[in-house]
Amino acid sequence: MKIQLIDLKRQYESIREEADKDILEVLHSARYIMGENILSFEKEFADYIGIRNAISCGNGTDALVLALEALGIGEGDEVITTPFTFFATAESISYTGAKPVFVDVELDSYNIDPSKIEEKINDKTKAIMPVHIFGQCAKMDQIMAIAKKHDLFVIEDVAQAAGAEYKGKKAGSFGDISTFSFFPTKNLGCAGDGGMMVTNSDDIAVVLRALRAHGSGENGQRAYNFLNRIEGEIEEEKGGDNTVYNPLKYYNYLIGHNSRLDELQAALLRVKLKHLDKWNEKRAEIAAKYNERILSKDLIKPSVSDDCKHIYHLYILQSSNRADTVEKLNSEGIATGIYYPIPMHLQKVYEELGYSRGDLPNAEYLADRTFAIPMFAELTDEEISHIINALEK
Ligand SMILES: *Cc1c(COP(=O)(O)O)cnc(C)c1O
Repeated sequence: MKIQLIDLKRQYESIREEADKDILEVLHSARYIMGENILSFEKEFADYIGIRNAISCGNGTDALVLALEALGIGEGDEVITTPFTFFATAESISYTGAKPVFVDVELDSYNIDPSKIEEKINDKTKAIMPVHIFGQCAKMDQIMAIAKKHDLFVIEDVAQAAGAEYKGKKAGSFGDISTFSFFPTKNLGCAGDGGMMVTNSDDIAVVLRALRAHGSGENGQRAYNFLNRIEGEIEEEKGGDNTVYNPLKYYNYLIGHNSRLDELQAALLRVKLKHLDKWNEKRAEIAAKYNERILSKDLIKPSVSDDCKHIYHLYILQSSNRADTVEKLNSEGIATGIYYPIPMHLQKVYEELGYSRGDLPNAEYLADRTFAIPMFAELTDEEISHIINALEK
């Protein structure tokens, strides 16, 4: 029996009819950028998260970069984040010219440890960027309280936690801006690259809309006026947001990006969003089976706080003998993944930041022990049993 870490074909088969119909409709409409599906998906996604504005973009990394830029973060600034994450989190900070400052993680939740944040705050600190790693939320109450006390922005990286909750509220509804990735293997994924930024601030939303499309048009004017504190007249556009028909498209007000989600991806994501809660529940059910039936003393299972609804973007185990465990699973046809083998502060590219081994011991300890086993909504009982039996062996 061969079992992949995530089987995207099975998910597609389960929505094939609906998805094919809507995608073909986009093709036939010949409207590929900033059309109906984008406007509708942004509205539907904002409603799902419970937030005023959702602004789609090209991918989850761009979402982080645009979020930082919209908050005016760059050269000379510091942003506090976790070392135990995908590189894009730290990379986005560096990309703006700001410096990532890493704070160690909790050994149980794998998320940034709020009790270690304040000692890293100084005059240059502008924001805290928590990541809800593997699908479980960071301790947002504590993080928001620290941010408020020190007048810092919070950017939530929700790339792995679409639909997760903290104290009954959706991940992504806490920060000044929160970002999502629709990379195909994410728990809400499209058929290529895609991303989303959400915010309750209408002013920040305007800046994000301007930044994703060359700082042009009506959004560009509004963003320019907001950033420069100008109470100016806005020339209204006809024909919607930055479309090919837009007469103001060639009037630029900010240095922005070309980072848009396209109509084909939005059409697919609209179909998938309707299934997301069901898929997340299915993941949690599979995790419950793993939790109940994996009994080996050598394996440490996920630890879930009562405050959190974990959506198990990945199901992570720890083993003191990871190389052997992984090799045996692979020989039984079971795929595994190592998330993440090198914490950010020990990456080659960050040598210049001056960290050394031992500085963030929890992240380093986990990097040597954690691994993922298959997790997706369509796993069968037979496959789940095969995985559990192999682990028990
Ligand atoms: C996937 C991911 C990103 C980046 O998303 P892309 O869409 O691949 O650019 C950022 N942060 C985290 C934690 C991720 O897992």
